[in-house]
Amino acid sequence: MKRTALRVMVGAGMALLLTGVIPLAHAQSPAGMRLYAFSSGALTVPKNFLQAGAPATAIQVPVGFYVVRHPKGNVLFDTGNNDRIITDPGYWGAFIQGLNPVRTPDVAIDVQLGKIGLKPDDIKYVVIGHMHLDHGGNVGKFTKSTIVLQKDEIKNAFWGEPGTPQNYIPGDFMMLRNDPGQMMPNKYPMIQLQGDLDLFADNSVVVKRWVGHTPGSQMMIVRLPKTGTVILTSDNVRPNKDWLSFVKTSRAQARIRQFIKQQQRERSVEIGREVLERSSRVSETLTGVFQEQLPSRSRSRSQK
Ligand SMILES: [Zn+2]
Repeated sequence: MKRTALRVMVGAGMALLLTGVIPLAHAQSPAGMRLYAFSSGALTVPKNFLQAGAPATAIQVPVGFYVVRHPKGNVLFDTGNNDRIITDPGYWGAFIQGLNPVRTPDVAIDVQLGKIGLKPDDIKYVVIGHMHLDHGGNVGKFTKSTIVLQKDEIKNAFWGEPGTPQNYIPGDFMMLRNDPGQMMPNKYPMIQLQGDLDLFADNSVVVKRWVGHTPGSQMMIVRLPKTGTVILTSDNVRPNKDWLSFVKTSRAQARIRQFIKQQQRERSVEIGREVLERSSRVSETLTGVFQEQLPSRSRSRSQK
């Protein structure tokens, strides 16, 4: 459970390292469109789970969620940790010790949204990057919104594939299913994607299927009138060469290439270290074997 919990932390931390930091091409977006970042508290994680070669010092990783104000409606991206843990730590089971989340009342999603005068019912679309406990936690509070999820993520959250980390809390999303005996599976409006979606058909908010962190992960590309384009990654945190296909500015492309190169360098160092450790283990084993065998060989020669 601890390992599983730590995987969640890695994802959360890396997401925040990269979310929203890559300014891309400016686009024609509706005037007055804005992006707001909010805090759902933080998780605690050993630093070496986020950065190869770092010490195991405990660090806090912020858990974020985002609101896009668009003339055609407000969009929420991710919903943070379930607010229930603020008063009921047992709700997360063993994750509560493994992740030691911030649980102060000010991180509740209603309080955070209130900072820009919004209530959960004011959100038109809730786009969830993936349903892990630090991203889909409060989805059940948005019963008037349309939930936008990849179909594969719904399946994985309810009944994951073997080998898939199950960092899900069923209580976070069980309420999305209809009651037994009802004809329809979904209790609330939901778009079940198997690909990308241009939310307002103006290219300003695009949900992009980006499988990797989970079988049904997605990102959201937000094109702002002043800042330019921002990619909300959820836990899909590692840019790869495919990102170059939708990143327009040379500055953003250079940063992605630099990141890929740095990753390759770190991986090479890691491989080198593993090879060295393996060969020194083999050499120690062989030395031990020879030391044990030499006296008996000498004995058998002397008997002939
Ligand atoms: Zn995750």
